Amino acid sequence: GVAMAKSKFEYVRNFEVQDTCLPHCWVVVRLDGRNFHRFAEEHNFAKPNDSRALHLMTKCAQTVMEELEDIVIAYGQSDEYSFVFRKKSNWFKRRASKFMTLVASQFASSYVFYWRDYFEDQPLRYPPGFDGRVVLYPSNQTLKDYLSWRQADCHINNLYNTVFWALIQQSGLTPVQAQQRLKGTLTADKNEILFSEFHINYNNEPHMYRKGTVLVWQKVEEVRTQEVRLPAEMEGEKKAVARTRTRVVALNCDLIGDAFWKEHPEILA
Ligand code: ATP
Ligand code: ATP
Ligand code: MG
Ligand code: MG
Ligand code: MG
Ligand code: MG
Repeated sequence: GVAMAKSKFEYVRNFEVQDTCLPHCWVVVRLDGRNFHRFAEEHNFAKPNDSRALHLMTKCAQTVMEELEDIVIAYGQSDEYSFVFRKKSNWFKRRASKFMTLVASQFASSYVFYWRDYFEDQPLRYPPGFDGRVVLYPSNQTLKDYLSWRQADCHINNLYNTVFWALIQQSGLTPVQAQQRLKGTLTADKNEILFSEFHINYNNEPHMYRKGTVLVWQKVEEVRTQEVRLPAEMEGEKKAVARTRTRVVALNCDLIGDAFWKEHPEILA
């Protein structure tokens, strides 16, 4: 090929550090909304769960999976989303900074781009930001445990927040009083408060709130009618054409335990 002209400035490229992700590991990028406690206040999010915000997060994550390469599963809750790249991905030579910045910027621009579709009457008051990190998991077990950890976090926070806000919204406690009331309580105690004081069976709360959202690729048979051009003087003909496409689907299911991984063996393959 043609030799590229090099300037005397070219040497500064050597200051760039190598950040290749270790081969054969699962690459996880986790994003988290920057100061979303304030963002939620400023945009009148419902407490403890604003479903518009959760659906917008999922729309953004879906866009990330469709626009970028090699993401096999994503999991989101609250203001965070985790994206898992397939073990053998060689996208951008596995450079961690490329993975992280492309996920974060695609997600953030989507959040603004799709805002109005989810928050019709609520103007976006300032541009949100998301931090990102890359973590490598060396085995299927550690990856499963990572996702289980995020889902357990969702469960623990959501149970706490559900009781906390019921005490405030329905019993008229101040936030400090609600916090005092919940200090030292165990899971069973919180379930009991919800049931006896508010007639809420926690297990009947929406799955999206309790489990978070899992995004996976799913094969769908798509049947379309297509104009078939035939040779010579024959008439064009309409014909049903079936083809298999993959698209991203959202599930609010358990990742903890074996059932999910038995149903979706292709993810870890
Ligand atoms: P940091 O910048 O350190 O992440 P943060 O304020 O974003 O700070 P997080 O621990 O990430 O802190 O918590 C996110 C907060 O955003 C929640 O505690 C809650 O107040 C708010 N939030 C996020 N998503 C929702 C939602 N769907 N509905 C209601 N509130 C939400
Ligand atoms: P990659 O994803 O690898 O960065 P790329 O297409 O963005 O691919 P770059 O080397 O970054 O490749 O080049 C950016 C290209 O975008 C330019 O070559 C040009 O075609 C276009 N471009 C960017 N800014 C402008 C601009 N202000 N006016 C016209 N064209 C632009
Ligand atoms: Mg945080
Ligand atoms: Mg945050
Ligand atoms: Mg968070
Ligand atoms: Mg470019």
